[in-house]
Amino acid sequence: MQRIILHLDLDYFYAQIEESRKPDIKNKPVVVCQYSGRSEDSGAVATTNYIARKFNVKSGLPIKTAKKLLQNTDSVFIAANHELYESVSEAIMNIIRRYSDKFEQLSIDEACIDISNKTNNDYQSASTYGNELKKEIKTLENLTCSIGIGPNKLISKMAADSNKPNGTTVILPDKVKDFLFPQKVNKLYGIGPKTNTKLAEFNITTIEDLANSERTVLIDEFGQKFGVYLHDSANGIDNEEVKDKPADQIGRIVTLKEDTRDFDLISQSIDNLSKDISNQTIDKKITFKTVSITAIMEDLTIYQRSKSFEIFQNSNDIIVATSKELLRNFLSQESRKLRRIGVRVSNFSQTKGQTNLFDFNS
Ligand SMILES: [Mg+2]
Repeated sequence: MQRIILHLDLDYFYAQIEESRKPDIKNKPVVVCQYSGRSEDSGAVATTNYIARKFNVKSGLPIKTAKKLLQNTDSVFIAANHELYESVSEAIMNIIRRYSDKFEQLSIDEACIDISNKTNNDYQSASTYGNELKKEIKTLENLTCSIGIGPNKLISKMAADSNKPNGTTVILPDKVKDFLFPQKVNKLYGIGPKTNTKLAEFNITTIEDLANSERTVLIDEFGQKFGVYLHDSANGIDNEEVKDKPADQIGRIVTLKEDTRDFDLISQSIDNLSKDISNQTIDKKITFKTVSITAIMEDLTIYQRSKSFEIFQNSNDIIVATSKELLRNFLSQESRKLRRIGVRVSNFSQTKGQTNLFDFNS
């Protein structure tokens, strides 16, 4: 049975989150910065929007250089808010997980999922299915992403990379070589400048050249493991499974209907979030010792409050009661309004964790 793998990459993630929260900056160059704190402008660019990229401002660039390149523009420089980006990432990963047979998070803004069963191994419905996932992320989190769909992890990743932002690219199994072969060999995932230079010495410049080269020559030159990887991947072969790891925490975050510090209003969201979490813990036979809430304030500062129990818990009532107790204490010490509220459970029982691992491996 052929596999169908979907790779999802959120577009210019940090900068897009900032745009989505401050729509007035959307038509300006936006630069999210990792300030080192040593002097006013020391540090590097973390992410930029596409307008800034037109001025050659990219991640990794010193902030000073970025400011020079953008000096005559209406640019916006913003300090990276990692807690915010992580909370948005968590919410989106939870959405993606629901769409998957197997789920593997690759970074804060990338995941790959096996959707073979969910789509009945049908590429036609896989494309519709992928667009539904994109639509749900746009509706719930107001962010766009690029997806690639293909017969393995390598092809789906390269497909997602080939059309950004907001792309949907499907590579059918019998079109893999048409997709790969014309591309420059440095576009193949895993080939850096060093390997590229070495391959050029063998007159290998396209992926087709690499695919048609002698496997034994590649192994002699690059060693068994990397030589085999190069030859296989140039031919579109990648048998690696999506690594579905059991979660070590289960959490949900929502944006409140309005910024508020009204206990009853926020409690309604806690009821919904807890129900969702509790359904999952029952489903996966997980028990937990810790319940936490995350409060994201109107100015986007983030707070976490937790309570741990001596013995393992498994009931929705405990999640609801503990979250509300944490919320009540938090509100009594805090005068600002909340924008988002999150609930999570963690500290799972060892035996259940291992049972899960066994389930995934079997
Ligand atoms: Mg990305």
